[in-house]
Amino acid sequence: MDIKNRVTITFLSKSENESFARMCVAALLMQADPTIEELADVKTAVSEAVTNAIVHGYGHSDGDIFMECILEEKLITIVVKDNGKGIEDVAKAREPLFTTNPEMERSGMGFTVMETFMDKLEVESIVGVGTKVTMKKRIGSRL
Ligand code: ATP
Ligand code: MG
Repeated sequence: MDIKNRVTITFLSKSENESFARMCVAALLMQADPTIEELADVKTAVSEAVTNAIVHGYGHSDGDIFMECILEEKLITIVVKDNGKGIEDVAKAREPLFTTNPEMERSGMGFTVMETFMDKLEVESIVGVGTKVTMKKRIGSRL
């Protein structure tokens, strides 16, 4: 399918940038005439992925987070990547309620939220190298 638009941004792993990333994706997605619900779903999923990179990937220390958003005719693809500590067992990390930070009031629902609100979720990770989360959602359910 033809690419309609593509945005790539790199930002520091500061918690303020969670809303920055969310707004960037929302602004791009507006070009695809989404429903309010589609917009909210995508923003929520992006927040979860970026928060994970900040909190788990970099453990609240400074590092770069790379985000690429690709808009095709009726599909948005969002990639959130960090060069942080990585995930030992991705399958386990994706299970609902699994968290390595229960003491930090984490509920272990981030990946489940991404999976629920998006159509496809792919998680690739190497310990000590980083994590790449790819999410896809079809846009245009109003049609
Ligand atoms: P919640 O998202 O509900 O606040 P959580 O972040 O622990 O809690 P998930 O987002 O589902 O839950 O992530 C599950 C686990 O996967 C995390 O506890 C963490 O161990 C690991 N993880 C997720 N993203 C990353 C990342 N970018 N780098 C390193 N580890 C990660
Ligand atoms: Mg999380």
